[in-house]
Amino acid sequence: MDVKHSSCCFCSSRGCAVKVHVDGGRIRRVTIDTDAPVVPGAHCPRPSLAAEYQESPFRLDYPLKRKGKRGEDSWERISWDQALDEIAAGLSTVREKYGPEGLATSSGTGRGAWDFAKTRFMNLFGSPNRIGAVTICYGPRSMVWLSTFGGPLVPDSRPGKTRLMVLWGRNPHEGGPSSWHRYLEAKKAGMKTMVVDPRLTEPARQADHWVQIRPGTDAALALGMMHVMIGEGLHDGGFVGNRTTGFEDLAERVREYPPDRVARICGLTKDQVVDAARFFAGNQPSTIVIGVAAEHSPPNSIQAVRAINVLLAVAGSVDREGGMLIAGPAEGFIPDAAMELNHQLSPQQRRKQIGADRFRFLSYPGWELVEEQLRRKWGDQHPAAAYLNCLAHAPSVFRAMLTGEPYPVRGLIVSASNPLLAYANTKLVYRALQSLDLLVTLDVTWTPTARISDYVLPAACWMERPDMGNFCSSGSYPLIQVGEAALPARIPGRYERYDDYEFWRALGLRLGQGKHWPQGTFEEVWEHRLTGIFESRGVKSLAEFIAQRRWEKGTVEPGQCEEGLATPSGKVEIRSTILEKLGYDPLPGYVDPRQPEGEWKKYRLLNISGARTMPYHHSEFRHVEGFRRMHPDPIVEIHVDLARRKGIADGDWVWIETPVGRCRQRARLTTSHDPDIICSQHGWWFPEQSGEEPSLHGAFESNINITTDDDPDRCDPMSGGWPFKGQYMRCSVRKVEE
Ligand code: SF4
Repeated sequence: MDVKHSSCCFCSSRGCAVKVHVDGGRIRRVTIDTDAPVVPGAHCPRPSLAAEYQESPFRLDYPLKRKGKRGEDSWERISWDQALDEIAAGLSTVREKYGPEGLATSSGTGRGAWDFAKTRFMNLFGSPNRIGAVTICYGPRSMVWLSTFGGPLVPDSRPGKTRLMVLWGRNPHEGGPSSWHRYLEAKKAGMKTMVVDPRLTEPARQADHWVQIRPGTDAALALGMMHVMIGEGLHDGGFVGNRTTGFEDLAERVREYPPDRVARICGLTKDQVVDAARFFAGNQPSTIVIGVAAEHSPPNSIQAVRAINVLLAVAGSVDREGGMLIAGPAEGFIPDAAMELNHQLSPQQRRKQIGADRFRFLSYPGWELVEEQLRRKWGDQHPAAAYLNCLAHAPSVFRAMLTGEPYPVRGLIVSASNPLLAYANTKLVYRALQSLDLLVTLDVTWTPTARISDYVLPAACWMERPDMGNFCSSGSYPLIQVGEAALPARIPGRYERYDDYEFWRALGLRLGQGKHWPQGTFEEVWEHRLTGIFESRGVKSLAEFIAQRRWEKGTVEPGQCEEGLATPSGKVEIRSTILEKLGYDPLPGYVDPRQPEGEWKKYRLLNISGARTMPYHHSEFRHVEGFRRMHPDPIVEIHVDLARRKGIADGDWVWIETPVGRCRQRARLTTSHDPDIICSQHGWWFPEQSGEEPSLHGAFESNINITTDDDPDRCDPMSGGWPFKGQYMRCSVRKVEE
């Protein structure tokens, strides 16, 4: 048995070190490499199912071209050369007829993707229209950190340093095995814990302090806590006085958020708001780990992420031992931003990015202001990767496909993304995709979106490519952890897959981008990016590096504030110069959501969706029987009182309905949240059902995005994020009658 040292990319924790046991060209089992710095502990079941995943008939093996109509599910096997030649010709036609901005790409999880390569391709092609679910997941956090602190915030994870960890709208028990592992270890060592969540999750059950807020009110709670802290003198006067800008303005602002007002907004008592503030302030230094809850709740997505992070600054738990540290680039490593060739996209083309005139923070206007500061401090080696921090507005791009406004978008390349499941308002997305001149999917497995594509291309998964965690590779952390391919991407007679660097490069070469793709293989890319580290280690190749020790670990040290941060003022910007320049409120605040209008008035329940569900990762793994046995059905959690009123029993199928559409999921009765809230799962489709229209593997059955709204007027005014929680996720439920 051969043992390969690889990096697992089955989820967004991405990059856990694993050992892949290979025999006769087949994966036999995958075990955790416990010596490495990034591991999921014993809490992740996914690697144990890697062999089944790899052998699944749902894996894509060869390039396919559509025969007949879209959605007929009739395919012709073709060679890679034919596929790439024909796609390149199709893209040239789009460019000639509509301009390069007539092409968009869609990104998703790390299953097949290295988004620096896609971004480079798009920059060279001339299109600013990259869309991705990152707009509602991690992108907002990242941009808030970069613009407010001049770098990503990472918790000081050294044992014994932190007194309190706050999980704010985050449940690592389901969604982040490596964080859950670290959390439990620190808890064992005496760290206190606080959870802010409308649901009694496993971390909430185990927490020293649980704050059960209403969905979408995170910003108000953080402002109310600051009101109490500043009013009672519990803030860190030295830190806010010397290291921040705008504290006086903030003190004025939080006067508008006394505990009784905040209590009404958040569904708490006044005492609960005060207690939360005192508990937090009394247990410093602290770290706060934010989940997607705040990011999912327009119109307060960015405001909530800002307010929660500013709360840390008010407590003085930034850039301090045991608090949140400001990370810089990993020394000797070339980060993703420097690989993207962002300077190749002209200012004229950048200005055409769809939605960037309206949603200016997470798109070119905001990214350029942030990038200028990071470049001043770090030159090219900065962490502002465009694929994470600078996106076109997905709902507006789908509308452009349908209406030709503001201009036509006629081609889409989907890689490691499943738009029919991933974006809000599935039926609109479906019509938009059906309207395209060219739809290409590069993925590891079949998906409903692949079934309506013109070309479907098989991507190498992490077991078939050298790889690394994407957070390491963005250059934000002083940690590099690389893994080798366990199997080749092509095995004659079994499959012919391309890793995505190879795909984007091959397409780029056909479109005249040759001189910009100097490395021929993914392995050469890693060797190029690691040259600085290779020199310090005295190694010459990736294989030598992996054989010697496949990680390089530094520490993030406190003290960045003293050196001057990569922000316009060089300080932590409580009052954000960048938001002000973009025409937004420069201070954290809470915006009252609009009251429901028209049809929406009839819908009174709030739906929390988008929570992570073990063992799945968004819409992935439904095709692997081992995963389905663990979690066979889409589940909607309904409070027992609501269920009684509606005549719903545990295990019944129920309709979840909104003015946008309806889907069905199986009821699980609970008391872990308020009776007027339901909690539905996302990403559900049924690989066992027909891939042909109209079923598309049941993509229109239990997929929550059939019910979600992507009206740009209800998206976050700064980021453009669409609602997945909060006041704009209203619905009703009723039992499905047979
Ligand atoms: S946490 Fe994610 S990346 Fe790590 S082993 Fe589990 S599935 Fe793989």
